[in-house]
Amino acid sequence: MFKAFLIKYGEIGIKGKNRHLFEDALVQQIKYALKSVEGEFVTSKEQGRIYVEALTEFDYDEVMEHLQCVFGIVGICPVVITEDEGFDKLAEDVISYLDKRYPDKHKTFKVNARRARKNYPMSSMEINAALGEKILQAFSEMKVDVHEPQILVNVEIRGRINIYSEVIPGPGGMPVGTNGKGMLLLSGGIDSPVAGYMIAKRGVKIDAVYFHAPPYTSERAKQKVIDLAKLVAKYAGPVYLKVVNFTDIQMYIYEQCPHEELTIIMRRYMMRIAEHFAAETGSLGLITGESIGQVASQTMQSLAATNEVCTMPVYRPLIGFDKQEIIAVSERIGTYETSILPYEDCCTIFVAKHPVTKPSLKIIRRSEMRLKEKIDEMVKTAVETAETIIVESE
Ligand code: ATP
Ligand code: MG
Repeated sequence: MFKAFLIKYGEIGIKGKNRHLFEDALVQQIKYALKSVEGEFVTSKEQGRIYVEALTEFDYDEVMEHLQCVFGIVGICPVVITEDEGFDKLAEDVISYLDKRYPDKHKTFKVNARRARKNYPMSSMEINAALGEKILQAFSEMKVDVHEPQILVNVEIRGRINIYSEVIPGPGGMPVGTNGKGMLLLSGGIDSPVAGYMIAKRGVKIDAVYFHAPPYTSERAKQKVIDLAKLVAKYAGPVYLKVVNFTDIQMYIYEQCPHEELTIIMRRYMMRIAEHFAAETGSLGLITGESIGQVASQTMQSLAATNEVCTMPVYRPLIGFDKQEIIAVSERIGTYETSILPYEDCCTIFVAKHPVTKPSLKIIRRSEMRLKEKIDEMVKTAVETAETIIVESE
């Protein structure tokens, strides 16, 4: 019965003069989200409202699912839009709406009329009363409840008239693209896709970098990361993914440095390379899926050692999350099933039996000195040979 959706947005409504930038970004993101949905849609901005109108048949659930991935949307209202042809016609439209939408009429209701157009011949109060009366006449089972109605019949009088009673929750947050860009270190695990999701939710566009170590890590492990990027792209928009061949660097560290320091030193090189790409492509920070104490490389000391090589801010949105909490988010956003596929990760191949948990910066720096002969050249090669893949959501 619906051909259109009224989109409600929260936080972005309060941005003063920048408001239109936020609205435009939201319209862009909605268009992107609907690109892969069957049917033709027009997304438009009209007097502080965003509408999605279908020009063709469409699958309601599919549209809803895609809209629920667009950050910045607080509520999605399936709406009936009618032209203003006088009050009697409006009453007819409202009654027909209720009749179709609520087959069971044993419900309480309240009419909530709003006039954005003040030249309408009746006041909001008059419309509420008159429409209420018409509804009671049409459906004897319905009753008015002004305090806790089961159905709040919203009637918005604008250029056209909006009739809706449902607000389906959106994901909240801010439209992607309104808060700059960040570089996500994306591995094949559970955590980093969730970290990317959470930063994107705040309006940040996401680029990503993945370090692989062929032949120790397989093509399937790389494909898994691409698949995860695809799932993140469902919320964050297209993701530019850099795939860095990390094998030589990893081997060299393995040969030259104490094995218990391997993970930390490796992570420092990942951060350096990620930061290089971030600077090159306009990202303003790095994003990781780290959480305090989760593994040896994520103690406060290890994080300090990893962080030391970065000049950009490093955002770690999962820092205070327990693994179970991270898993809950990953299940909700749909990355979990892919994350738990059993393909090896480059970090797990060279792990020491007893990695340092309290690395001293002095010692780590000293160990890195052993790399000085070849490492700069290796980093340069890794950067130059990195592959860029533009990952779009399906
Ligand atoms: P995840 O579940 O995301 O793999 P993790 O619990 O396995 O995280 P680590 O392997 O210590 O933790 O990695 C910590 C963070 O470092 C990851 O969340 C990710 O941001 C980054 N990272 C680790 N390995 C890689 C990789 N191969 N490529 C890119 N980033 C990586
Ligand atoms: Mg990992």
